[in-house]
Amino acid sequence: MIKKRYVVAFVLLFLVVTTSSFITYKKNYSLYLNETKRTVKNVSNSVTYMYDSIFSSICNSTKQTIENLEQNDLSRSDIDELLYTASKDNYYINNMYIVFEDGTTINGFKEPYVDMKSITPYFEREGNGICLGLIKSSKSDSNLFYGVTPIEFQNKKKALLLVGINYDLINNISRADSYEVYEGYLYLLSNDGYFLYHKDPLLIGKNLFTDKKFIKDVTNMDDDSYNYLIKIIKNKNKESRENMISYRAYNVEKIGYYNYLDSFDGTIMLSINYTQLKHKQIKATMRIIIPLLISFLIATYILLKYIFLVKYTDYFTEVKNELAFKKRIKKLHKQGKDNENYLIIKVENVTSNKDEEFLYDNSIYYYVSKYFKSISSLYIDLYRISRVHYVFVLKDENSLKQIEKLLHNINKNISIDNETNLFIRGKQLLLTIDDIKELENFEVVPQIIQYMEKNYEDLKIISDTGFTKYSNILNKSSCRLKDILLLERVIVNQNIVPFYQPIVELKTEKIIKYEVLMRVKHNNEYLTPAKFIEIAESEDRIEEIDRLVMRQAFQTYYRRLHKTGKHMRLSINLSGKSINQNMIDYILKIIYKYNIDPSNITFELTETAALNNLNECIWYLNKLRDKGFKLAIDDFGTGYAHVELLSKLEVDYIKIDGAFIKGVENDGKLLKTLNALVYISKNYDAKIIAEYVENKEVIKVLEKLGVEYGQGYYFGKPEPIFT
Ligand code: C2E
Ligand code: CA
Ligand code: CA
Repeated sequence: MIKKRYVVAFVLLFLVVTTSSFITYKKNYSLYLNETKRTVKNVSNSVTYMYDSIFSSICNSTKQTIENLEQNDLSRSDIDELLYTASKDNYYINNMYIVFEDGTTINGFKEPYVDMKSITPYFEREGNGICLGLIKSSKSDSNLFYGVTPIEFQNKKKALLLVGINYDLINNISRADSYEVYEGYLYLLSNDGYFLYHKDPLLIGKNLFTDKKFIKDVTNMDDDSYNYLIKIIKNKNKESRENMISYRAYNVEKIGYYNYLDSFDGTIMLSINYTQLKHKQIKATMRIIIPLLISFLIATYILLKYIFLVKYTDYFTEVKNELAFKKRIKKLHKQGKDNENYLIIKVENVTSNKDEEFLYDNSIYYYVSKYFKSISSLYIDLYRISRVHYVFVLKDENSLKQIEKLLHNINKNISIDNETNLFIRGKQLLLTIDDIKELENFEVVPQIIQYMEKNYEDLKIISDTGFTKYSNILNKSSCRLKDILLLERVIVNQNIVPFYQPIVELKTEKIIKYEVLMRVKHNNEYLTPAKFIEIAESEDRIEEIDRLVMRQAFQTYYRRLHKTGKHMRLSINLSGKSINQNMIDYILKIIYKYNIDPSNITFELTETAALNNLNECIWYLNKLRDKGFKLAIDDFGTGYAHVELLSKLEVDYIKIDGAFIKGVENDGKLLKTLNALVYISKNYDAKIIAEYVENKEVIKVLEKLGVEYGQGYYFGKPEPIFT
């Protein structure tokens, strides 16, 4: 599962990336937009300047011509000459002629090129007379316009000077169509409403005031945009204006920068496709942001994978770890599968052909893991659930052959390089998981492994198919767990009390001493200790218990000594596992404290098979003997260890195990065995004590054999206090 903090970190990071991208986008966008607007504005200004200079030259020519015409005594041919040269001298002027109110020219002809209706108003208009207005040639649909200037001609006769202006030339020179960015184009409107120049040839010569329907159809302008355009060209206040306009035409949003010409009643407009500008900018930004986001997502993915990897693999060997195994179990459970076979091996005793010693180096596990991975075709999956434990997930239940092959391969030698070989020797357990739901409480696994190791051989016997059932291990291990807890509780609460059982001289039936036998107090009951001692011994807690019993017995001894003035004789059980320097020190200290005469105390050595270092123990036991304590071999006859011990250690008593006594009066075979045991015992210069003496007949048998002492229910059961 992904932890919460990773999600939070991811979300935070994502938010940071997106907001910073957004801010960058906004900043870049407005920057770019302003830049573009400024450029458009600059171009608009410079083109305006260009037009202005051209129109100034036209107006100057016109002004000059009017001045020349005002001279008296000009003949008609002079006037023709004058108009001809004036139009010839100016590059932008096609022709010039004069029209009177009745529509006749100076030569008495009817004016052929222009519509009289459209020029009539100019006779009435006031003004400085130069470049007053424009009319369109009726003869040509194309770009031919006449500049109209009212003049007072000879004898104050009202006339108009028409100046034919060559727009194709002008527009060519101004390079009005050269601004191409964002479908940008420039157009020129006279303030009379004429499109003098436009990219769309349909519009050239059309009039904003009179051809509204046509223009709107061509440009798709809505009413607002159209009226706005009209308002702009009518606007006479040239100072206080923000010369930008947003409008819609040709189905896109546009922004335009306009300028009024100084030399002429006209407006220059440079307009660009604003929609395209916006889209381009979004695209440009996306080109940066999208790769950024993609790389962020990829990085996050890799990071999560890495976290996952670190969590679920063993860093050193790169094998999946215990957590990964837990995950597998959870997943199986989810899938409703409750059966899977594993081979668990404990890799121990790794040796190499170069080194005689066992290798414990971590790098060994690297090679071992590497080797296991190399035979991956033989299993489904591999986990390293502890430093030394590997779990192989087996392919299917029945392929025993395959398992054998796997085992064979595991037991093979591993060659690291050409010269070095490793030999793995390990314990193996084939395990069937038959209770996955239980295994989900994976906390118990280390305990199961521990248990498995302790009871390795037994576990193998449990299984009939060669596989051990997981639930069996679990049950056993949970019982054991309960026992261990009980042991702990008993020790902590000191719920251990000594009972006393008499040991009797058979001849006289007189009590010579008492054996101290512990009982476990549990819910107001006194339990016999056999099972408890077994657990304590396997858990290495027996020493604590022996001390606890000894102390209480010595306290009783002490109290009795004070009460009666008599020393009592006690026989105390001492497990082979308890014999060490600490125990010796403890004994010597405590007998001093309770004023105990060592000659009254016998130590019965139980569990002598557990003496881990025989010579050392003998040394300790001799030390006790030197102090005056007596020693007894307990449970004689049950183990070979006694013989070795007796050959090296002098003891005072040998206690023949009850198994050879009980029922001996009716069992010839048993009698023979007992006879032999007594015979051996006699060799060692020790007195013999018989256990489990339960009736008179046994005593007779024992006496015949020459056994000196007896202990058993016949004489008295273990009791908590003395009578
Ligand atoms: P053990 O040393 O062989 O003790 C004799 C056992 O035989 C005692 O069992 C006792 O109750 C039982 N017994 C005595 N007379 C008869 C009889 O006539 N018939 C039968 N069937 N049984 C009889 P218990 O008290 O259950 O103790 C079991 C074992 O636990 C002892 O065997 C001894 O090895 C060990 N043990 C007891 N107390 C201690 C202790 O404080 N420390 C250590 N290390 N071991 C102890
Ligand atoms: Ca005993
Ligand atoms: Ca015994």
